[in-house]
Amino acid sequence: MAKSPEEEHPQKVFGWAARDSSGSLSPFHFSRRENADGDVTIKVLYCGVCHSDLHSVKNEWGFTNYPIVPGHEIVGVVTKTGKSVTKFKEGDRVGVGVIVGSCNTCEPCQQDLENYCPKVIFTYNSLNHDYTKTYGGYSGMIVVDHRYVLRFPDNLPPDSGAPLLCAGITVYSPMKYYGMTEPGKHLGVAGLGGLGHIAVKIGKAFGLKVTVISTSPAKEEEAINRLGADSFVVSTDPAQLKAAMGTMDYIMDTVSAVHALAPLIGLLKLNGKLVTVGLPNKPLELPIFPLVLGRKLVGGSDIGGIKETQEMLDFCAKHNITSEIELIKMDYINTAMERLAKADVRYRFVIDVENSLSQ
Ligand code: NAP
Ligand code: ZN
Repeated sequence: MAKSPEEEHPQKVFGWAARDSSGSLSPFHFSRRENADGDVTIKVLYCGVCHSDLHSVKNEWGFTNYPIVPGHEIVGVVTKTGKSVTKFKEGDRVGVGVIVGSCNTCEPCQQDLENYCPKVIFTYNSLNHDYTKTYGGYSGMIVVDHRYVLRFPDNLPPDSGAPLLCAGITVYSPMKYYGMTEPGKHLGVAGLGGLGHIAVKIGKAFGLKVTVISTSPAKEEEAINRLGADSFVVSTDPAQLKAAMGTMDYIMDTVSAVHALAPLIGLLKLNGKLVTVGLPNKPLELPIFPLVLGRKLVGGSDIGGIKETQEMLDFCAKHNITSEIELIKMDYINTAMERLAKADVRYRFVIDVENSLSQ
């Protein structure tokens, strides 16, 4: 008979888990493997709350394996290293993002694109090499193969820096890959949530003109005055959309729900590029005529490899880019999830794990 989550490994851990598709999280005792030669044990300090955590706890994508401990924007402190680990030592501040393993031999792995490895191991809701389940950062500690651990720059605050580990790399990687970094070009950011607000900041750091495309008029003032966007388009206002038609070189679509692509494609110039990183639970309709007639491109992108994630952290440290956060205690998580579902967060919840995981 399979062992219980609490008994399958020697190290006892406490966290919060969802048990079913109600998505409600509650205290959960489980266990993690002993620190192996190539592993790093990390005491979790902070963990961001990504909309993917919400999709997952509610099984909106249809592949959640309960119980699930979410969390893949982890910042912590190294408490132990295996004997073959030279890159990290006890006391180092480190980050863990969306992936904790891959095959290391396939073509994507050899190109530092472990995130596209067919055998990628996600930080939660995945299987380790020994077929036990992975559990994420809504928990007191985690054991990770050192090759998937990031050096967390000294001048990045551990709380407001945590969201960079997923939201940051998810928008940075496609901007680099699709060539959306030419200074002076015009970037639209659809959806001003966790990913979107970091896309605004990274876009500005690349020297782009940035316009937010949002369903929430109440976010306009902050988008411009606090986040540094140049302009704001309310996507439910036909007059505003019309005025902005054909003005954008690139659009980063971070919207988490089913939405129309036609208006976004209409905002692009000739040769414009629309990159979708949002993951709605149902397919979107793709209008072909405006793509063909405007030689426009639609692409997708999934987080980024470990090497590029380190590059992104160093880039954000250099440009003082952090997330705007609402710091919460663990027992606020169910309210936070309800608010996240309503796009009511400025702009990322981050859990103060160290100070709120009482058993
Ligand atoms: P978030 O903080 O909830 O932001 C999503 C934003 O989308 C909302 O703030 C809202 O912005 C907009 N929105 C929500 N519902 C909408 C609707 N019905 N119509 C139009 N706009 C709507 O979520 P997030 O953490 O940034 O994640 C965004 C999406 O990216 C999620 O689907 C997540 O799973 C996915 N994701 C993908 C990757 C990847 O590697 N590709 C990585 C991380 C996350 P406004 O209020 O401005 O309209
Ligand atoms: Zn995420």
